[in-house]
Amino acid sequence: MAKKHLGQNFLFDPSILKKIIEAAQISYEDTVVEIGPGPGRLTKMLADNAKKVIAIEIDRDLLERLKGDFIAYKNVELIHGDALEFPFEDIGKFKVVANIPYYITTPIIFRLLDTKKSLKTMTLTIQKEVAERIIAKPGKKDYGVLSIMVQYYAHPELKFIIPKEAFRPVPKVDSAVLHITTLDKPPVFVKDENLFFSVVRTSFSQRRKTIANSLKGLCEDIKDILVKSGIDPKRRPETLSLEEFARLSDNLKKE
Ligand code: SAM
Repeated sequence: MAKKHLGQNFLFDPSILKKIIEAAQISYEDTVVEIGPGPGRLTKMLADNAKKVIAIEIDRDLLERLKGDFIAYKNVELIHGDALEFPFEDIGKFKVVANIPYYITTPIIFRLLDTKKSLKTMTLTIQKEVAERIIAKPGKKDYGVLSIMVQYYAHPELKFIIPKEAFRPVPKVDSAVLHITTLDKPPVFVKDENLFFSVVRTSFSQRRKTIANSLKGLCEDIKDILVKSGIDPKRRPETLSLEEFARLSDNLKKE
């Protein structure tokens, strides 16, 4: 019986699992971390294609079953625990391939991006609408904090859609496979990353307002700073590019 509160929607179709493995572009030199191996079907394919697989599963019942199934697999390490608390920094360079439990999608992506020196790529099966928000470009309705945070650290690509009927039990929404490659350096330079992210978060806290109205709590002469940054104060936050947010936060830093 699947445990709904743990986001247990399992994938069984071998052709879909094969497509995920292809999208992940893993090789026999790679250490792959799988978050939530569940019944272990993807885990087996990963073990056949990677040097080492570290599979972290929070559900002790599933883990006990996996231990038996993987007894002959010398390159698979099964770990019981919460992936959000796993010390990713201690395992050297790694790739992530996972069908992510929906309730940890955003925190796990941010946690993984935080390990950026060791993380090479992540191939994540996540809710389609979250994937669309991650890849969204300025001017699109899905563009927001999540798009900017991920695109600052990485290059996300939507590889393919998995219809909800492919999962057991069937969830409410379709999923998408995202391949995210971390960048050696961000696509824009900012003087103060904390300020940059704070400007982005504050801007989107009131999407319907103009950028000047959203940010007026940050600084009294926000209109002047926007104009100095080449941004019309009447624009909406979702029309600003990463470069424009960077310029704006650098000019706010000077004030
Ligand atoms: N990989 C399997 C598949 O594709 O069929 C299972 C994917 S299922 C969507 C998510 C899995 O993550 C479940 O096995 C669930 O028990 C596990 N899980 C849920 N929360 C977790 C957490 N915080 N840390 C590690 N595993 C978790």
